[in-house]
Amino acid sequence: MPSSRTRLRIPDELRWLYITAPLILLALVLLTEARDARPATRVMRPAMGTSVTITVLHHSRRRARGAIEAAFGEIERIEAALSVYRDSSQVSRLNRSGSIEAGPDLIAVLGAAGRYYELSRGAFDITVKPVLEVYDRSFTRSGQPPTAARIDSARRLEGFERLSITGKRVALSEGTRIDLGGLAKGYIIDRAVETLKRAGIRDALVNAGGDIRALGDNNGEPWRIALQNPRDPGDYLAVIEITDGSVTTSGDYERYFDPGFEHHHIVDPRTGRSATALISATVMTALAVDADALSTSVFVLGPEAGLALVEDLAGVEALLITRDREIVASTGMADFIRGGIRDIGRVR
Ligand code: ADP
Ligand code: MG
Repeated sequence: MPSSRTRLRIPDELRWLYITAPLILLALVLLTEARDARPATRVMRPAMGTSVTITVLHHSRRRARGAIEAAFGEIERIEAALSVYRDSSQVSRLNRSGSIEAGPDLIAVLGAAGRYYELSRGAFDITVKPVLEVYDRSFTRSGQPPTAARIDSARRLEGFERLSITGKRVALSEGTRIDLGGLAKGYIIDRAVETLKRAGIRDALVNAGGDIRALGDNNGEPWRIALQNPRDPGDYLAVIEITDGSVTTSGDYERYFDPGFEHHHIVDPRTGRSATALISATVMTALAVDADALSTSVFVLGPEAGLALVEDLAGVEALLITRDREIVASTGMADFIRGGIRDIGRVR
């Protein structure tokens, strides 16, 4: 602490420092704060069968927009290779011809699909496509579910062992077809985030219809994500907070064949029927591809086996809602829910 005597010794011509120093300090503090609170640049566009929103924090909106453009370019490029809804995609060509030379993205996604097939003991299986087609055809034609005989004959084409990868060559056994809907979105979100990083972005949020990956944080706060009530789209159950991580939800309410949600787009490969133990499975992991594949896996496995799988894996949390509207959460999930899990109560 300078004594008053020391202060008195400062020559008159330096007195201005007494007044200006605090002002300079204040200006510095304000400038740093302005630097920290970077504006959010947000672009929403249809992609991957849903609406994709990319939010980037950067002082320069021009830089932010450039990075977002590059990320959407990457999304489009990989979607063109992996989507079953595009006749020219690598996946569609594989399904038609039974064998193709695959690009690096398809090889990477198939590798992840194989890992989750093993981890889920067959509950996650990208070869469910023939079974899904049987449902699609039957509901489109008659509004009725397919017969057991139809389902069983489609199930004979199922099984990840019926897919082989030798170098870049991917081949399917006769009649087998794949659908990457259970994990491709997550993989593409991760590639979009890598593209943002390469463009110098450190904080961003990529939201593809509720499948989300956060890069960094939101100006010093976690990114906050509302978790939709699966039985009331206008309502939310909880607010999830994430910094550098992913969250994905699989639900029976996203795409379904009948108004009772009894027949929908997530099929249990072991029975050939829509999985019905859960109405939604939310999974948090570091990478979006893992959250995506796991939310589908856990949805099929149901509350007991699904939760056991999640608890077995490091860095994975889950929030499940059972058919009886019971909420089941993994051990560490509460840490990510604002206000805790108790506040959620029961789903009406
Ligand atoms: P969404 O695509 O609606 O976000 P999911 O990530 O849960 O939901 O993926 C559902 C999609 O996964 C289905 O539309 C279908 O393409 C595919 N699928 C359905 N059942 C399975 C399964 N048992 N294993 C792997 N993929 C599946
Ligand atoms: Mg999924």
